[in-house]
Amino acid sequence: MSTSPIAGHAGAAELRRSAQDHLWLHFSQMSDFDERPLPVIVSGDGCHLTDVDGKRYLDGLAGLFAVQIGYGHGAEIGEAAAAQLRELPFYTNWNAAHPRAIELAEEVVSLAPDGFGRVFFTSGGAEAVESAWKLARQYHALNGERRWKAIGRDVAYHGTSMGALSITGLESIRTPFEPLVPQVSHVRNTDRFHRPEGETEEQFTALLLEDMEHRIRSEGPETIAMIILEPVQNSGGAFTPPAGYFAGVRALCDAYGILLCADEVITGFGRLGDWFGSARYDIRPDLITSAKGLSSAYASIGALLVSDRVAEPFYGHDEMFKHGITFGGHPVQAAIALKNIEIMKRLDVVGHVAREEDAFRRTLEPLLDIPIVGDLRGAGFFYALELVKDQDTKQGFTAAEAKDLLQNFLSDRFFDAGLICRADGRGEPVIQVSPPLVADQAIFDEMTGILGDVLSEAAARVR
Ligand code: PLP
Repeated sequence: MSTSPIAGHAGAAELRRSAQDHLWLHFSQMSDFDERPLPVIVSGDGCHLTDVDGKRYLDGLAGLFAVQIGYGHGAEIGEAAAAQLRELPFYTNWNAAHPRAIELAEEVVSLAPDGFGRVFFTSGGAEAVESAWKLARQYHALNGERRWKAIGRDVAYHGTSMGALSITGLESIRTPFEPLVPQVSHVRNTDRFHRPEGETEEQFTALLLEDMEHRIRSEGPETIAMIILEPVQNSGGAFTPPAGYFAGVRALCDAYGILLCADEVITGFGRLGDWFGSARYDIRPDLITSAKGLSSAYASIGALLVSDRVAEPFYGHDEMFKHGITFGGHPVQAAIALKNIEIMKRLDVVGHVAREEDAFRRTLEPLLDIPIVGDLRGAGFFYALELVKDQDTKQGFTAAEAKDLLQNFLSDRFFDAGLICRADGRGEPVIQVSPPLVADQAIFDEMTGILGDVLSEAAARVR
């Protein structure tokens, strides 16, 4: 029986028609929905969503790696937003401030790794990345150096605005927009699955650091403003760092005077079982970008966290960060983020992830028995399954086969089976799972059950 408030009425068809006519979807092939119905999500509770036809889904992707507290806190967060709207619907943080931005900055600083005293708010993740790169450039200028380049990693995603896209290491989404902001280069990511059998973790770390140092030297260290890395790289499938990697990156940045930015747009606010992935992996960055989980995506707000050392020259006489965004730290968005953090603390969401991450992994592990599942990797509530043609040799699918498997089969089948997860082919084909951080064993079981059924079907289809 339908549970949707408008299911069974002309509403569903009308909404879909209107969407087809007017709503331009992000990263979506619009013609897909000539053949199959566009999912129109109308409500959510806990880790589940309901579409306009009344069909329920388990959201194994937490929106887009974002809805930490799940979908059931709209009323409480709505109260906070309404109170703020009554008090002060808008003011900027340009040459002025308002209480919610001040309180949120203080709260974020209290959760951040040691040495981070300042927060610059943005409207989302890409703006935080843009802000980080600009701040890094201006920081060096204030110190009398002209450094402008950035180094990112292969296959990493950092957003779609021109600066963030330039840092993104995904050819397929870069090419149509070239020329991009010049002089970003990409170094090896921490994909261990495709490394030779028998290579130790230490050898792998050494290889990655050699590659990075080689790139720094060939670019000219005195030209490089910033290296930007996610604690666990999402695109390509939850690449975790090998032992010693981040200590080595930090040492390279120190040796060559380069700022280190941890892009925590996904990993920040609990996804890895710590408020920040930088704390979990002891990254000691100079800058941290964050967004999504800061408000559990109940608001469009992001933040750039700046270490005291990097902030210092901006606080001298006659200096300012020459950068601003109308909506950065918007009072309603800030009120929502504050309430989200309050709820996360009340529910001990971050502690829950730390306590349950082993159970989550253990629940997913049997999926490795399915013939096309080659690897399971990740940390916290942030995992990926890499799909292969041959488990023994790790032989992958050709690009055409992967596209067919992901786009023509898996994406639809997961959706039909009531699981939202991501069948991603931007690197090797992976299934990304990243549930709300309030997920418990029942959710892990439900998710793994559907993953198992659909991936087994896919394996049979491949055979
Ligand atoms: N950085 C990372 C690591 C991301 O995953 C994303 C988005 O998924 C971004 C930056 C860009 O964030 P937004 O989509 O809010 O601009």
